[in-house]
Amino acid sequence: MENCIFCNIIAGEIPSCKVYEDDQVLAFLDISQTTKGHTLLVPKEHVRNVLEMSEDTAATLFARLPKLARALKKATGAPAMNIINNNEELAGQTVFHAHIHLVPRYHDNDGIEIKYTTHEPDFEVLGKMAEQISREIQS
Ligand code: AMP
Ligand code: ZN
Repeated sequence: MENCIFCNIIAGEIPSCKVYEDDQVLAFLDISQTTKGHTLLVPKEHVRNVLEMSEDTAATLFARLPKLARALKKATGAPAMNIINNNEELAGQTVFHAHIHLVPRYHDNDGIEIKYTTHEPDFEVLGKMAEQISREIQS
């Protein structure tokens, strides 16, 4: 896609620091370097995000993660890593070509903070929600 920054990177029209490439995916360093080694993994096919991704593209993309994550861990010496994917603006997506962030973690307060609010479980509500999602998967 012409005015997609990641398509431009894939096409070699704008520079990037490539980490891994094959005919289906590309991994390169994120320009923001939230922590040292922050890497993005993208499908070469232009797809907006996981919500619009085919199973085949997802299978290929996600299959590349473990090897890339292990290499990044070794190269940086980071003891831990967040693997993050944002879908749509409300969830923090700013580039609308699907991508997975690999963010090496070095210590607390190292540039990224992930907090999940927790609620007391209401198992009746949870049961209904699970049923509803399950129905959608089958439809
Ligand atoms: P997201 O907010 O999940 O859509 O992530 C988009 C990411 O793309 C951000 O972390 C940006 O720093 C990164 N980014 C934007 N432009 C470039 C670029 N030209 N090269 C590398 N990373 C980029
Ligand atoms: Zn694109």
